[in-house]
Amino acid sequence: MKIAIIAHDGKKAEMVQFLQENKSILNSKNIELVATGTTGTKVEKAGLKVKKFLSGPYGGDAQIAALVAEGEIAMVFFFRDPLEKHPHEPDISMLMRLCDVHDIPLATNPATAELLMKGLQ
Ligand code: PGA
Repeated sequence: MKIAIIAHDGKKAEMVQFLQENKSILNSKNIELVATGTTGTKVEKAGLKVKKFLSGPYGGDAQIAALVAEGEIAMVFFFRDPLEKHPHEPDISMLMRLCDVHDIPLATNPATAELLMKGLQ
């Protein structure tokens, strides 16, 4: 099962904390993590194995969106920062739209991610 991890800059620390708190679940299941570039580097620092794509503004969200469209992704944790502007807003909308098109669980904040993680247990 592949899970995609993306966090905007203002949310990266929360993502690392979330992953650290849930590391045992992520390690115990047959889960492969994929992430946008900079988020992926942070995920590695949290001690988890992850396949990294391009950084978000350079197309990383679009790469993950393509995987969603191909049915490769089971779940997306996307901690968005609603207080910042993003140059790649169209890619972000595309990713969220494709999650809805393909009925893929998408957590855009830690509280929802926590509930999805409980579903994984
Ligand atoms: P990043 O991209 O992990 O490379 O920072 C995330 C994003 O901004 O979508």
